[in-house]
Amino acid sequence: MTNKLSHSALNKYQTCGVAYKYHYVDRLRERVTSGALILGSAIDAALNEVLLKTENDPIDVFEKKFRFARINNKEQYIPETDLVVYAEKDFDYDLLDEADIAQLENIKNQLGFPEDIKEVVTKASNLKKQYGWKNVVPKYKRMYSLANWLCLRQKGILMINAYKEQIAPKISKVYSVQEEISLETPEKDKIIGFVDLVADLDGVKTIIDNKTSSRDYDLDSASVSPQLILYSFALGVRDVAFIVLNKNVIKNKTKVCTVCGYKAAKGSTHRKCCNEVNGLRCNGEWLEKIDPRIKIDIVKAQIDQEKQELVLDNAAQINSLIKQGIFTRNLNSCKTSYGLCPYYNKCWNKKDDDLEQV
Ligand SMILES: [Zn+2]
Repeated sequence: MTNKLSHSALNKYQTCGVAYKYHYVDRLRERVTSGALILGSAIDAALNEVLLKTENDPIDVFEKKFRFARINNKEQYIPETDLVVYAEKDFDYDLLDEADIAQLENIKNQLGFPEDIKEVVTKASNLKKQYGWKNVVPKYKRMYSLANWLCLRQKGILMINAYKEQIAPKISKVYSVQEEISLETPEKDKIIGFVDLVADLDGVKTIIDNKTSSRDYDLDSASVSPQLILYSFALGVRDVAFIVLNKNVIKNKTKVCTVCGYKAAKGSTHRKCCNEVNGLRCNGEWLEKIDPRIKIDIVKAQIDQEKQELVLDNAAQINSLIKQGIFTRNLNSCKTSYGLCPYYNKCWNKKDDDLEQV
């Protein structure tokens, strides 16, 4: 019998054999998903339009994919579902525009909250931390989900526009987008995957994986990425790169005078406009504005044959272990800086009511 493994399956097996078995063999999935995943796939879809220069507006594609998405094979309306769990850093009030704030005010009043938007979201976030998302009262869930979704939507739009400005000019030729690769190990097992992009980047044919992340990638992350190395081998392309869109928006806050239009110096602490007009201090009220920027890093590497052999040998071994039914627990991966393993409760508390079979 031969086995078919994707890059993410290999990754999962190496994180924890039992998590692999629950996910791929028993097909158990968390009922909820993360805002990061929904955002990532909506951005991927939009970037494909940017790269292929189709007639579709990338932002429209993003809007649609971010609004309606499938969670465990069921389509959901993302702004209102409680099946998406957001991370602490997702919410950033400063990014909301007037329409967003009006929408939130409206829902807030409907639900009967006397506090302001920020206070409600903070309270919901504290309830989530203290009791877990599933135990948060529905009306708090509703406000918290919408507020976070609106922020991520703004971040997504900023990221797509930043990609257009910063990355698209560096790409002179696109060979393929979302190309499927398939490799065969000596035991005739298959390794499959989808390559985000193969393109001339700064004039060099490169295998590219677009990532959205809230942290910076290490300089050597591309050179030791099993994913990029597998793709490099499959396509016979030596140059690889991660393009990392940082989700932490750089806001460049500025204060502009509502009376004379004067722009305060960076870091100014004046409470009112300090501009002098005809020898008199203006003292107009400030309007706080942001000039948001997205940091995009390109992390490049060249892959040699030794690295390819290392990764391919490893993949072949994993395939062989899976075929023998060997699924070893990695108890060090239950709780990491990225959060809890989806199967944490199943393993440690013998409870699986947060899981469903797909
Ligand atoms: Zn002024």
